[in-house]
Amino acid sequence: MNWDDTTDTGADAERLVGAVADREDQAVEAALRPKDLGEFIGQEKVREQLDLVLRAARARGATADHVLLSGAPGLGKTTLSMIIAAEMGAPIRITSGPAIQHAGDLAAILSSLQEGEVLFLDEIHRMSRPAEEMLYMAMEDFRVDVIVGKGPGATAIPLELPPFTLVGATTRAGLLPPPLRDRFGFTAHMEFYEPRELERVVHRSAHLLDVAIEPAGAAEIAGRSRGTPRIANRLLRRVRDYAQVKADGRITREIAHAALAVYEVDERGLDRLDRAVLEALLKLFGGGPVGLSTLAVAVGEERETVEEVAEPFLVREGLLARTPRGRVATPAAWAHLGLTAPRGPAGGTGQQDLFGT
Ligand code: ADP
Repeated sequence: MNWDDTTDTGADAERLVGAVADREDQAVEAALRPKDLGEFIGQEKVREQLDLVLRAARARGATADHVLLSGAPGLGKTTLSMIIAAEMGAPIRITSGPAIQHAGDLAAILSSLQEGEVLFLDEIHRMSRPAEEMLYMAMEDFRVDVIVGKGPGATAIPLELPPFTLVGATTRAGLLPPPLRDRFGFTAHMEFYEPRELERVVHRSAHLLDVAIEPAGAAEIAGRSRGTPRIANRLLRRVRDYAQVKADGRITREIAHAALAVYEVDERGLDRLDRAVLEALLKLFGGGPVGLSTLAVAVGEERETVEEVAEPFLVREGLLARTPRGRVATPAAWAHLGLTAPRGPAGGTGQQDLFGT
């Protein structure tokens, strides 16, 4: 899976169907976050397992084990960390890997935690190496060694920490060094959501935002949300705007359909860029194989934008395949754009790749 590639791509954050939170998301998401496990929609297995972990810890009167949450942006990792704190009746501190560049930054946070506090460390795979090593000891022994001084005179002063629960979140569990991964008592992998689950997310958010919505309207939004609650909530807000300006505010199927046509998000959740890539692949290169650079030139985008922003979702949707010979469209891609594939292996024309991959 390649969805994790989009995490750091600025271009993705600017898209209506990007999974990374933009400024507006950050402002409104707090109001839409489920507050306990009962309100959290979908992810049945993760919920069931986490419920057991938390209940057992509560029954023992102990701090919950460290939890690692892996999964694409926008699937509810931050929300779950807040729920863990709420279910444990504990305060929560939120920080992220990129914010901790020096071991001293981490020592400062750890030494100010209260007993039982939840420390949410987003993008844990992006922490610096020295901080990571300090974290090993903190997680295992609730202790850190603070280094005082420099050079030969430097001394390590051990510092006891109160027991705490680390909730680490990563889009790339595979990138975590095994010693770090092994120190989590519980690891949960978050999956993309089914359209039915996203419909429930949309209904719930519409209710909280005081927006009237019909089931067919919610289904229309859910189907275009790329399996991601954050995108579902964002599309809902855009459709709400349209419904207010163009109609009486009520979201019907027709309104959702018309609104999302204005924003160029199609029935499968593809946006303008996704469709441009597919269209070039099909119309200019007969479905491929074609090199990435050639494809990027054809759509007038940077190679990285095509590779990191458009392709992961197209691959996930089974519309495009990355092969050693280049990018190839699948039969589903032809069907999606309403085109007929030429005959021949993999729909390809043997078109020459001018730029290499
Ligand atoms: P992540 O930390 O994985 O990027 P967040 O926890 O910030 O994702 O979730 C993004 C938004 O999606 C939140 O505002 C939240 O309201 C919504 N959301 C995520 N998961 C769920 C869920 N299971 N049920 C309802 N809403 C959800």
